[in-house]
Amino acid sequence: NVSAPANNQGSTTGKTEDSGTKDTSTDKKDFKVGISMPTKSLERWNRDGSYLKQQFEALGYKAELTYSDNDSDQQVNDIQNLIADGVNLLVVAAIDGESLSTVLQEAKDQKIPVISYDRLIMNTDAISYYVSFDNYTVGKLQGQYIIDTLDLANAGDKKYNMEITAGDPADNNAKFFYNGALDVLKPFIDKGTIVIPSGQKEFEKVATASWDTATALDRMQNILASYYANGTQLDIALCSNDSTALGVAQAIESDYAGKNWPLITGQDGDVANLKNLLDGKQAMTVYKAVANEAVVTVALAQEILSGNTPNDSLLSKINAKCTYDTSSYNNGSGTIPSYLLVPDVVTKDNYKEKLVDTGYYKVGDDGYLA
Ligand code: BGC
Repeated sequence: NVSAPANNQGSTTGKTEDSGTKDTSTDKKDFKVGISMPTKSLERWNRDGSYLKQQFEALGYKAELTYSDNDSDQQVNDIQNLIADGVNLLVVAAIDGESLSTVLQEAKDQKIPVISYDRLIMNTDAISYYVSFDNYTVGKLQGQYIIDTLDLANAGDKKYNMEITAGDPADNNAKFFYNGALDVLKPFIDKGTIVIPSGQKEFEKVATASWDTATALDRMQNILASYYANGTQLDIALCSNDSTALGVAQAIESDYAGKNWPLITGQDGDVANLKNLLDGKQAMTVYKAVANEAVVTVALAQEILSGNTPNDSLLSKINAKCTYDTSSYNNGSGTIPSYLLVPDVVTKDNYKEKLVDTGYYKVGDDGYLA
């Protein structure tokens, strides 16, 4: 189901000669890259994995791709196997950012560079670089969308009831999303324009283990039963991503006594959520073009494998909106140089332009995106 975007295909291909990067074409075929992704059960990682593999292979590298079923012990094993298979570089999206120090020390001992992909891997000096989207901005975009859409600045005495569903505490990104959203919404919470009837506001209270849809569904059903069964209106469901937004939408469908459909936020552009978007059941999703995240990662890997020390000059070689940041992401063992791509808001009004015209998705016979 993963369609490569027309405007990004092969955009790193053939750039080596133009850019002055050391030509590795003679030994490229001997390089093997290990790609460790968290799980196939959360939609986006299927896209990431296949884009990364395709793009590495298009450049002549060998690529081995593993998925670890959201089980951090399995991810340790998978990475050990990739090391044993002789990979020259690792791209890792961690299931649990705190649990890879030992296995990545093995990589470091064998001089295998590691790119921390999308999620920052904590407490290890084996990470050379981090490639992600600006995760704090993702949360800010969700919060700002709520403020603008409901015109909260001009709400007067009107009050809006909100419930929050955040991500997996083991994923370093989850707090960035949460903080970005809460920071922009805080003035409205402080003023009383936004009310949280459940009182569940702290990250630990609203987190969703493994970003699991069923877990988010259960929690929202409990909240609806306890605080909304008397017809209290839920106006806003701030959800950090699409897998949690899907569970929340299901709970609202089955267990909500209020008369309105609340504004639900999300992130990723999962197919099921885009269907909800078109059906008016999810207001927005923060879209992150993971094809470009792969473009940046592959270009970075190419530099590293060529024996160069990448820095901000990499940006001029890649066709992606991206910043080089050497101060924001500290993984507990030091600040990790980061390439951060720019997230974007997708709604019913702009999905054609942002998702279809760009080639990221196709419109199926049923009118929904695939
Ligand atoms: C990613 C999100 C994704 C979530 C669950 C996060 O680390 O940045 O895009 O929704 O994991 O898969």
